[in-house]
Amino acid sequence: MNDDYENNFKPVRPNMLPYGQQWLTEEDIEAVVQVLKGDFITQGPSIQDFERKVADYVGASYAVAFTNGTAALHAACFAADIGPGNEVITTPLTFLASSNCVLYQGAQPVFADIDPHTYNIDPEDIKRKITADTRAVIAVDFTGQPVEVDKILSITQEHNLVLIEDAAHSLGAEYKGRKIGSWADMTMFSFHPVKHVTSGEGGIIVTNDETYYKRLSKFRNHGMTRDPEDLEINEGPWYYEMQSLGYNYRMTDLQAALGSSQMNRLDQFVERRNEIVSIYNEQLSTLPELILPYQLPAAKSSWHLYVIRWPLEKFNLSRKQVFEALREMNIGVNVHYIPVYLQPYYQQLGYEKGLCPIAEQYYENCITLPLFPKMSDTDVYDVCEAVTKVYQFALKQ
Ligand SMILES: *Cc1c(COP(=O)(O)O)cnc(C)c1O
Repeated sequence: MNDDYENNFKPVRPNMLPYGQQWLTEEDIEAVVQVLKGDFITQGPSIQDFERKVADYVGASYAVAFTNGTAALHAACFAADIGPGNEVITTPLTFLASSNCVLYQGAQPVFADIDPHTYNIDPEDIKRKITADTRAVIAVDFTGQPVEVDKILSITQEHNLVLIEDAAHSLGAEYKGRKIGSWADMTMFSFHPVKHVTSGEGGIIVTNDETYYKRLSKFRNHGMTRDPEDLEINEGPWYYEMQSLGYNYRMTDLQAALGSSQMNRLDQFVERRNEIVSIYNEQLSTLPELILPYQLPAAKSSWHLYVIRWPLEKFNLSRKQVFEALREMNIGVNVHYIPVYLQPYYQQLGYEKGLCPIAEQYYENCITLPLFPKMSDTDVYDVCEAVTKVYQFALKQ
């Protein structure tokens, strides 16, 4: 097989195509330069402008921006009053931050398995995992496809739980015709460069609840307030109070200006992601053994990731070999994600292999293809060519 292997898997393009990348324009750069030339590079008006823009776009009343999405999730856990003794149900098929934020607050993540078709958290398994100590659910819109948020909300409302939606993948997505960000008690978006819109690093929580909004705002700024209405006493114009233990999780105005400028092109970004997905769906559906992404009719994905699965019993290569072959061909494939509780740190906490069998099976044969709006059609066809080569080489006769 080895000579064959070498000959088959030559680069299909001269440079490595990454799996995700930002798309910045001169306008974006100019927006940041304007802030640099102004009076405030942090704690200025660009923050509120950005918060307003995101809140209006998703149809939420309030937004609080943070240094990054992870800090935003930490703040949401604080605002939801999650603490020692509480359990929070989340998915294992996510980035570490979705459950680390529970640990930051001294509470316990509980993992519910995924739906085998959508790969999102299974509402039925959420129900099974609820105990008297459950305080919240953190649902993740994996790859940009919204979770079944109406079903999950009816569960959380019945059991008096807080629903935090980790929508790091799903800015611009809709469920039943309503934007993600308008459904859950609190929703988090990330502005890391691989996400839909970037601010360098950045994150935000949107909510319709004024109490959460106030708690989030204080948490971002050391637990401090200067708002005369919130003060316990008021010793004068200089006076501020620290009322809880917060952090410095403030976004800068430079980041907010970049984020605002990028928001202007969000719809265009989502549209281009959809176009790329259409090409993938069309080209790769000619490879019948591959499992392409399944979409619920009610969900309108914003397509952060395009994941294909290789039923390995039908192929002569392992997942590692398929992955390495695609990388050798200069296609920057990736794997999203290693189930969180399989990480050494979580294993030390006592989580065991076998906890969520569907997520573990998914992890064995998934591969993420490059997907970002700046990709050209040629880039997309390069990916399809490489996948087709590996498929035809590896398919058992
Ligand atoms: C990116 C991401 C985060 C964390 O966001 P950062 O801004 O990188 O801190 C959290 N959850 C998911 C699912 C993500 O993809």
